[in-house]
Amino acid sequence: MDISVVIPLYNEAESLPELASWIERVMNENNFSYEILFINDGSRDNSMEVIRGLQASNPYIHCVSFSRNYGKSPALDTGFARAKGDVVITMDADLQDSPDEIPELYRMITEDGYDLVSGWKKKRYDPLSKTMPTKLFNATARKVSGIHNLHDFNCGLKAYRRDVVKHIEVYGDMHRYIPYLAKNAGYGKIGEKVVHHQARKYGVSKFGLDRFVNGYLDLASLWFQTKFGIKPMHFFGLLGSLMFLIGFIAVVTVLILKIVAMNSDTFVFYLTKSVYFYLSLTFMVLGVQFFCTGFVGELITRNSSERRNYLIAEEF
Ligand code: UDP
Ligand code: MG
Repeated sequence: MDISVVIPLYNEAESLPELASWIERVMNENNFSYEILFINDGSRDNSMEVIRGLQASNPYIHCVSFSRNYGKSPALDTGFARAKGDVVITMDADLQDSPDEIPELYRMITEDGYDLVSGWKKKRYDPLSKTMPTKLFNATARKVSGIHNLHDFNCGLKAYRRDVVKHIEVYGDMHRYIPYLAKNAGYGKIGEKVVHHQARKYGVSKFGLDRFVNGYLDLASLWFQTKFGIKPMHFFGLLGSLMFLIGFIAVVTVLILKIVAMNSDTFVFYLTKSVYFYLSLTFMVLGVQFFCTGFVGELITRNSSERRNYLIAEEF
């Protein structure tokens, strides 16, 4: 099979018929063998009836339906697990992404050899409250992930070599960072294609402004996991040792000052009035805590069943 189209949807009943027939037309015009995987993320409208109706006239349509709303990432992850096509294309269900982009995305994966091609909504039809913070978000994501050529990390329209989607785990709200996840898994040939974007025709956006707060928190934790996930001691141990050292120097300073004061008639030293006393207390306690956290972290990773999931590219 050439292409799997994975479409997460949450209350998008109005858009689905147009989307399905558009994809069908593009696939037939280009003679692609394909499947459409609708992942219904707990819709409360009649999306499911609509999909059943569509499937009756097109056997290449399949559907997985969640019992409740889990989020876009779990929906994509589920679609990825089931995708059978050589190239896997994800797109939003709201008709903001155009199926006409599929042939070129497919070509970039199969002929240009990209592992992942991300859409770039260069001209966006979204409210300013969304496009402005998005610029900042993408700049941060570029810096943290080291993928400098992407302008639009969170574009719903993306194409993947099948291998890639089988080896990444999209959980929580990590769909915003799939290129970063792919890069961490060793799929570094990541390209971009300017794609046509449309204003939402039906329904409303499913993400509010909290997307930016959560987006940054996710980026921070992903960065931490990437860097220290299987060696937490390198982070906590270093920080803990540094703090302990500062605390230790402060203790020595306090001791010296006290001894000097005891042997002098003019120099008076009150332990509890010295800044070094408080520094020594805080920093030694914090240092030990960080060190122990690192130690516990190491014990956890040692026992994690995933610690040896190294992705092997080739073996003879
Ligand atoms: N979506 C989903 N589960 C959710 C939220 C959204 O499957 O909890 C789907 C939604 O139906 C759409 C896609 O994810 O197909 C992108 O959502 P939306 O268009 O609301 O995001 P925006 O374009 O505003 O960024
Ligand atoms: Mg949308």
